[in-house]
Amino acid sequence: MNFHILTLFPDMVMNGLNTSIIGRAVNAGLLSIEAVNIRDYAFNKHQSVDDYPYGGGAGMLMQAEPVYLAYEAVAERIRKQGEKPRVVYLSPQGNVFDQKMAEELSQEEDLILLCGHYEGIDERVLEEIVTDYVSIGDYVLTGGELPAMVMVDALSRLVPGVLHNDVSAEFESFQDNLLEYPQYSRPEEWHGKKVPSVLLSGHHANIEKWRREQSIIRTYERRSDLFEKCELTEKEKQWLKDYLDDKISRHQE
Ligand code: SAM
Repeated sequence: MNFHILTLFPDMVMNGLNTSIIGRAVNAGLLSIEAVNIRDYAFNKHQSVDDYPYGGGAGMLMQAEPVYLAYEAVAERIRKQGEKPRVVYLSPQGNVFDQKMAEELSQEEDLILLCGHYEGIDERVLEEIVTDYVSIGDYVLTGGELPAMVMVDALSRLVPGVLHNDVSAEFESFQDNLLEYPQYSRPEEWHGKKVPSVLLSGHHANIEKWRREQSIIRTYERRSDLFEKCELTEKEKQWLKDYLDDKISRHQE
């Protein structure tokens, strides 16, 4: 998968993405990441890329033309016949990024990520080039660089070969709308807390059952929004009811 990040701060994104798993995947040729400096496409001698918003208001706005030229420079290279490249504008006004969106976007061969700064970007160029508006959450950041890095990281993990096969096949949070079960490593006892005995039993079916139950409890207790969407068998529903009844009666004792 090839990521093309349009930004005013290329060092920030490249420095943040060249280590650990993502850095190794780039070195192995499984991913490519380029940061295109929008300032290189400034059309005035001071290389400025921002100006005051019409109608007044605080802050500056990134101008349409440098963004468009930076986009065109990339699009020209990657455009397939008749197809418009997929361009994500990172924006607090976008659809909130989640694992499902990551899975869908990770199918793309090329993805352009457009990072805004200051008060954002002139609407006209957004109308012309953007295909998807994506937010990483309901809060406002100073720029789209951190959100772009979040997206590159989440999508890259889904590219075949980036994670070891055994890791990528493992259950993870958000699969089936459930959170992952708790995990433990050595030693068997730490600060007086013991690893649940089922995990030491070597009994795979029991371990799987315990993990599934823990995922259900965890999702129920921590993420009611996800829990509403997850599909449980009748047996699991009954098990959860018994577990909660038992918890309440123990609490009342
Ligand atoms: N004035 C804009 C508004 O109210 O919608 C906010 C602009 S913000 C200060 C500057 C840039 O940061 C945006 O253009 C966007 O690229 C990025 N940004 C800020 N918060 C974000 C978020 N939650 N998700 C994705 N990008 C964000």
